[in-house]
Amino acid sequence: MTLVSMKEMVLKAKDGQYAIGHFNINGLLWTQAILQAAEEEQAPVILAASDRIIDKLGGFKAIVGMVNGLLTEMSISVPVALHLDHGRTVERCKEAIDAGFTSVMIDGSHYPIDKNIVMTKQVVEYAKANGVSVEAEVGTVGGMEDGLIGGIQYADPNECLRLVNEAGIDALAAALGSVHGQYQGEPKLGFSEMKYISELTNIPLVLHGGSGIPDYQIKKAIKYGHAKINVNTECILAWAKAIRTVLINDSKVHDPWAILTPGKEAIKTTVKAKMKEFDVSQRVEKSYVD
Ligand SMILES: [Zn+2]
Repeated sequence: MTLVSMKEMVLKAKDGQYAIGHFNINGLLWTQAILQAAEEEQAPVILAASDRIIDKLGGFKAIVGMVNGLLTEMSISVPVALHLDHGRTVERCKEAIDAGFTSVMIDGSHYPIDKNIVMTKQVVEYAKANGVSVEAEVGTVGGMEDGLIGGIQYADPNECLRLVNEAGIDALAAALGSVHGQYQGEPKLGFSEMKYISELTNIPLVLHGGSGIPDYQIKKAIKYGHAKINVNTECILAWAKAIRTVLINDSKVHDPWAILTPGKEAIKTTVKAKMKEFDVSQRVEKSYVD
């Protein structure tokens, strides 16, 4: 199957009260692990490349080439979107689209809402002409965002409504207490605000910082309109733990595959568990039955 935009995925998910997993990639093995998990779970999936590490991954074109190659070689049959995470500028989003990304996030959340809307609108115009979906953000997700460490700032409902209506986006990341990276204590998401924004905008919502949120809060976030949940930290922690174990247990090990394969397996296990938690497993089959 060729890459698709996330538009249909998130609309179906919002409708069916489940969420599509967005998993950040850090190279070939990560991409293989996530695609294997998606195929085994028969779950649509979003592969995400964070704008700040695009160059580390070899650039937009190298990423698209790698992903497309794997879709063919691995005979992937489930819908897969390739998404630019936290796109920093209109130009960066256009570059991603030109290279073959099928979804982009333009993150103008650090600017005043008027500028955020103008930037987002420019990206939407370009993206729509290319069949690419667009996500935008209001408010501030806590922890590290776009290379900056900041406090949580709740999304303003009226700004959310303006961004949705004026820019015509496909999904909205409304910051409501979630954090990038590891949480200090139990996460506290603003569920009443979430319900209000979801009803007001009626658009699929995106939960950033989806790692480490207890299951009951994930379920509630899905109930209140979240159709895409971003996971990065949980995969990173599982990967690092697996590799560290190999290296600590055998000080002489040097075969790259002996070291790296357990890391890949740990990512796959984590992704599969998240897919089950988001209730997106077996959704590909089910949609044929509908
Ligand atoms: Zn994020």
